[in-house]
Amino acid sequence: MTKHHLNTRLLHTDSADFDPESGIAPVSLPAIRTSTVRFRDLDVLDQTMARKNKGEKVVSYGIAGLDTHRALENVINTLEGGSYCVLNPSGLASIHLAFMSVLKSGDHVLVSDNVYGPVRVMHETLLKRLNIELTYFSAEHPDPASLIQPNTRMMYVESPGSLLMEMLDLPRLAGIAREHDIVLAIDNTWGAGMLYQPLALGADISVIAGTKYINGHSDVMLGAVVTNRDDLARQIHATQYAVGNSVSADDVWLALRGVKTMAVRLEHHARSALQVCEFLDSHPLVSRIYFPAWEKDPGHALWKRDCLGSNGLLSVSLNCSPDAAKAFVNALELFGIGFSWGGFESLVQWVSPGALEPHSYWKEPGKALVRLHIGLEKVEDLIQDLNQALDQISAS
Ligand SMILES: *Cc1c(COP(=O)(O)O)cnc(C)c1O
Repeated sequence: MTKHHLNTRLLHTDSADFDPESGIAPVSLPAIRTSTVRFRDLDVLDQTMARKNKGEKVVSYGIAGLDTHRALENVINTLEGGSYCVLNPSGLASIHLAFMSVLKSGDHVLVSDNVYGPVRVMHETLLKRLNIELTYFSAEHPDPASLIQPNTRMMYVESPGSLLMEMLDLPRLAGIAREHDIVLAIDNTWGAGMLYQPLALGADISVIAGTKYINGHSDVMLGAVVTNRDDLARQIHATQYAVGNSVSADDVWLALRGVKTMAVRLEHHARSALQVCEFLDSHPLVSRIYFPAWEKDPGHALWKRDCLGSNGLLSVSLNCSPDAAKAFVNALELFGIGFSWGGFESLVQWVSPGALEPHSYWKEPGKALVRLHIGLEKVEDLIQDLNQALDQISAS
């Protein structure tokens, strides 16, 4: 199987088994819902518990799910090049699990300052209470190693960022992490295993919000934590059982169904997003485009070196005040106003100056930033919509 392309392997990972009598199997694995399992006799129970106690992923209860869950975990391992994957009820729960699996009271973490906003909330409300210290560093920091302290246990980053899409030099950070014996964890929601493969680039833990492109239809909350290190797998596994995370089989099934078409969706999103960039670049109201696959983006060289493709998420700064950009956002007809991205639909987010402030990469104070998710609509319609909405700023 490894000789095939990633997308082919993704489609052929964990198909349903043939019925031994009829020799027939469904194409799509069913959603196996259960809160617990039955054992044929006590011998089977004993054997199962013995294997479980050795750390094997056998099922003795419903909390970690059955075949449906294993199939999605295997698919995500295939995508990420991982050897261990665990599902969580959301992307944020996965970030939390990664932190809790690695850290203890008194530890210090280096965090890139472009991380998903709620990580900062987790820091303020939870990590501080647990006496875990965070230092935020810029994606452009010339010497992140200089920030490492004797109690630094982990580096946690996001690349590309999901607001300004800045590319981090992940292999370089991985080198620093290895040299100082600290864990490098990354939020790979942008890459979803298909566009960016952090474990191959040297990261130890990859976290994905399956809520976004993996599921792709904006109808499921789901996350995953992946690693290819046995020691970390054991820590993540034990921590997952300690906190009691569980995901519904129906949600897993929807994500499994969604992920099968991820490659074609991503190609369409990416192609349309580049066409939108070309349009935006020619518009006098546009100051700058933030999209690493766009050749004028400063992260383009790193994107070319480290990424296998792109998606539909981009930001654009406008030559007007943030307040003036509200007329543009309100005038859009095909872009829903909302957070999130990675579904089939186009979305727009008006980014508040306060949300940009922690990002040292943001160097256009006073200008407006708008994040767009370019969905699967016909791109000509999206461009026309953006064009008419930009006219609203000029008018107001
Ligand atoms: C959405 C998102 C998350 C969180 O995922 P949820 O499933 O919504 O909790 C984490 N990281 C990034 C980059 C995201 O965009």
